[in-house]
Amino acid sequence: MIYPIIGLGHPTLRKVAQPIDKDYPELDKLIADMYETMYGADGVGLAAPQIDLSIRLVVIGFRPYDEKTDSYGPEAEEHTLINPEILEYIGEKEYFNEGCLSVPDIHEDVLRTEGVRVRWYDEKWELHEEELHGMFARVAQHEIDHLEGKVFTDHLSPLRRTMLKRKMNDVMNNRVRTYYRMKPNKTKR
Ligand code: ZN
Repeated sequence: MIYPIIGLGHPTLRKVAQPIDKDYPELDKLIADMYETMYGADGVGLAAPQIDLSIRLVVIGFRPYDEKTDSYGPEAEEHTLINPEILEYIGEKEYFNEGCLSVPDIHEDVLRTEGVRVRWYDEKWELHEEELHGMFARVAQHEIDHLEGKVFTDHLSPLRRTMLKRKMNDVMNNRVRTYYRMKPNKTKR
C-alpha cells in the first residue's frame, strides 16, 4: 500500500517521534509499505513521520555508486532503521545537494559530516552499531532529522531560507504538484 506523504507545514513533521517496540502492530507490513511508498515517489529514504506516523522508523534504499565502473549498481541497497540513534559525527563537514519528498521542488546544498556512527535495530530486531559513510551516512542523517522534527531546509542559512520563502509557502499551502500522492495540509484562513 502506498501512503500519501505529508508536506512541510504539517504538524507531524515537527514532532519528536516516539520509539517503538516489537509489539508494534503489523510492523512488517508497515515497513513493506514504506519501501513501496518511497520507491513509488523515487525517494532514497523515508521516515515514518512523513506518512503522518510519529514513530522512530526509517527506510533507506539507494543504488550504490561504483567508482571502478563509474555507474550505479542494479540492485538497491536497503536498510531499515528502527529507533536509530546517532552516536557520533565523523569526519569533515561537506555539502551535498539534498531534496525531500515532503519538500517538493526544493533542492539545496546541505552541510553535514561525511560519516556518522549510528545504533539501530533492523527489521529482525537485530542491533547494529556501525560507522556509516558516503550515501548511507548522508541519507541516514537526513532521515534521522525527521524523527527529531527537523527538515533539511532547517540547515540552510537565514538568507537562503528567505530566498526560498515563496517556494516553501507554496508547499505549505498545497500549491505544489507532485507525481506522487500527498496529503494536503490544513491551511489557515
Ligand atoms: Zn526528507
